[in-house]
Amino acid sequence: MEDCELCGRQAETVYVALVEDVELRVCPKCAKGKKIISSEGHSMSRKGATAVKTEKGEEPELIEDYGHVIKEARERLKMPLKVLAEMINEKETFLNRVEAQRTTPPEALVRKLEKTLSIKLIEQEKAGESGRTGAKGEKATLGDFIGTK
Ligand SMILES: [Zn+2]
Repeated sequence: MEDCELCGRQAETVYVALVEDVELRVCPKCAKGKKIISSEGHSMSRKGATAVKTEKGEEPELIEDYGHVIKEARERLKMPLKVLAEMINEKETFLNRVEAQRTTPPEALVRKLEKTLSIKLIEQEKAGESGRTGAKGEKATLGDFIGTK
């Protein structure tokens, strides 16, 4: 148990969230709508990991294994699907379908997921592989992107 730095309540799971550019350890309720950096004890804050804005008016294309990426990021944060659903105001069942890639999330949801889980779900022309950790490459490996220009 740990005290939430925002509301002071005791929470079983605390998340490190960005609140006005300050890292706070907060309960799931207070983490709602905030940018989550990591779950308790594993501060993996990556400084300078600012999202690259790509507003070219082109339709974003989801990465091939977006469901897997979402699930992996969520599990890394030890965040139950229910908690994530609450945070971004979506139905748990819907998120479940998204993770199983049985449905394509609308762009608004994609953005929310990217922000909350610090991942990239939109295919980018430039090598945007930073969000993936330990992905077992069936296709091209990370090394093929890094180093070659
Ligand atoms: Zn709180």
